[in-house]
Parts: sequence; structure tokens; C-alpha cells
Amino acid sequence: MSQRQREVADVDVVIVGAGPAGIGMALALDPLDGLDFRVFDAGRIGESFRRWPKETRFITPSFHSSPFGLADLNAVNAISSPAIFAGAEHLTGEQYADYLSFIAEAHALPIEEGCKVGQAEPLQEGGFLLTTPQGKLRTRFLIWATGEFLFPDLAPFPGAQWCTHYARVTSWAHFDAPVHAVIGGYESGVDAAVNLIRLGHRVHLLARKSTWSPDGPYDPSLALSPYSRERLIGELDSGRLEVDFGVDVVSVTRSEHGGFRIRAADDRRWDVAERPILGTGFLRGGVRIRSPIFGTGRTKDISS
Ligand SMILES: Cc1cc2nc3c(=O)[nH]c(=O)nc-3n(C[C@H](O)[C@H](O)[C@H](O)COP(=O)(O)OP(=O)(O)OC[C@H]3O[C@@H](n4cnc5c(N)ncnc54)[C@H](O)[C@@H]3O)c2cc1C
Repeated sequence: MSQRQREVADVDVVIVGAGPAGIGMALALDPLDGLDFRVFDAGRIGESFRRWPKETRFITPSFHSSPFGLADLNAVNAISSPAIFAGAEHLTGEQYADYLSFIAEAHALPIEEGCKVGQAEPLQEGGFLLTTPQGKLRTRFLIWATGEFLFPDLAPFPGAQWCTHYARVTSWAHFDAPVHAVIGGYESGVDAAVNLIRLGHRVHLLARKSTWSPDGPYDPSLALSPYSRERLIGELDSGRLEVDFGVDVVSVTRSEHGGFRIRAADDRRWDVAERPILGTGFLRGGVRIRSPIFGTGRTKDISS
């Protein structure tokens, strides 16, 4: 046994991330007798949900359907129900994070909060050597469940630094200008638009195409959820929503008047006084994979 092997703790499985994927996985491993597993989260259990804008609610409905043999759509196991836990059909991020914490506590899951896994090095003898603030740890199996929300794509086009990304908004109530431009016509862009309109603002929504046409597409990864669609259509009569379609934003620049200029690929331009809001998406899990296991190198870098 090498010096390094003697110095580090050994576990069978490490799960990185205590969101619904990490907690669900931990619940699946929990009944396996003799399996030593740990869950590490850089923040708190359900950290991504705790950072949602205060007004954001689940688009998928929660309903206690276990008595009919179906799990609650948003549950992490077959018997629990976020609907029962929170008394809500469309939970807020905070409510859902509290539901995850409740489940973790009820099952005494081995979760360490405030523990960011900084590097995962594949070992020749198999498994991974992990670097954490608490030291090194060797694991036979590594389950990566770090989600997307904490890794917003902050540079989808030149000048995006002049914009405010959806993932950086803590509450729409902090916005006080009368008019806002929102770039992106899918879930987060529409959620931003609806919340701002409900708070009395006017919104100019710039979308590549309609995601809410009754003629489809119907694939939920392409089409707006019924919850968002219903809320958006409810605001069309407010007189405070303007939508432009076919907009492929290529840049945002500061304009001479102190505001911002949004330019589209077809050379349309919009001058706005406030920083445009980005509902343009996320990167994948904050990981640049460079490992022989996955194909290209040795270390797994975790960028944040
Ligand atoms: C606004 C919005 C609304 C949504 N609504 C719905 C919905 O209604 N229904 C639905 O099914 N889905 C919805 N989604 C998608 C859903 O939130 C994600 O699919 C889900 O959170 C993914 O779960 P996860 O466990 O993979 O990741 P996350 O919930 O993001 O959890 C990842 C965890 O990993 C931790 N982490 C990250 N890096 C490290 C590291 N290096 N070391 C240790 N820990 C780390 C984070 O702190 C975090 O707690 C929505 C997403 C958004 C953004």
C-alpha cells in the first residue's frame, strides 16, 4: 500500500451535491447494508432551490398521489410528498429545499454541508481521489449530482456582462424601473417576464421563437410548461407585455445615452435604459471533464 493510500480515508461511494438527484440517490443506497457512502454539498441541502428568486415556484405540480400508487411528481422517494410537506401545489424554492432537508434528516442520511469537492482524480487502481476542504478522500464510486442552477451561462454573447442573469436575481421586488427587456422565451425568461408584469412593470420579451404555440411543439424540453403558459397568457391582456419573435441576440453594448443597446443577428436593435435580463440558460454542472474514464485527460476540474 502506498503512502498516499494510507493517508486518505476510504469510502465506497461519494455523491457530490445534495439536490434532488443527490438525495434521491442517497435514499436508494441507504438500505444497502454495509455500504459506506457520503454526500457532500458545497452549500446547504437544496442550495440551488434556496437561491431561486423568491417569487419562483415549481412548474411541475405536486400532488399526494401515493394512495393511488403513483409518487408525487416532485418527490425524491415513493412515499413522501412535497405537496403534503409544504401544503402547496407549486412549491417555492425555499419550500422544496426544506422538504429535501426534512427527508435527509428523517433518514439520517450521511450528508456534509459546506463541503465543496474541488477536484476528482481518477486512480490507476480504480476509483477517485477527491479533494475537499476537510482533506483528501478516496472513493470507489463517484456520483456527480451538481445540477445546473449554480452554473449560469454568463457569456452567451458578447456584452452579456451588461445583463443580469436570472440565476443572480434574489427577488423581482428589487427591480424598480418601469420597463425591462428580457432575453429568452423559455421557462426562466417567461418566469422573469410574468413576475415583473405582476409587480406592475412593462416587459419587452425577446424570443427566438414561440414556446407556447397551441400547435406545438409539445415536448416539455422545447415547449413551455402548462403552468408557465397559463400565467403568460394571463398577462397578455395586461397591456404591459410586448413580445418580439425571431430574435437571436448577438450582442449587448453600452449606448451613448447611458443605457444599453441589444442587437439581433438580423440587425434589429433595441435601446433600453436598464440592464437586460438574461433567461438564456445554464452550463452543465460546472464540470470540465478531462479524464481517461471520460475520454480526454487525467483530472476532473470543477469550475464554479
Ligand atoms: C427556475 C427553475 C425552475 C425549475 N422548475 C422545475 C420544476 O418545476 N420541476 C422540475 O422537475 N424541475 C424544475 N427545474 C429543474 C430542477 O431544478 C433541476 O432539474 C434540479 O434541481 C436538478 O437537481 P440536481 O440534484 O441535479 O441539482 P441541484 O438541485 O442544482 O443540486 C446540486 C447541488 O450540488 C451542490 N454542488 C455544486 N457543486 C458542488 C461541488 N463542487 N461540491 C459539492 N457540492 C456541489 C450545490 O450546492 C447543490 O446543492 C427548475 C429549474 C429552474 C432553474
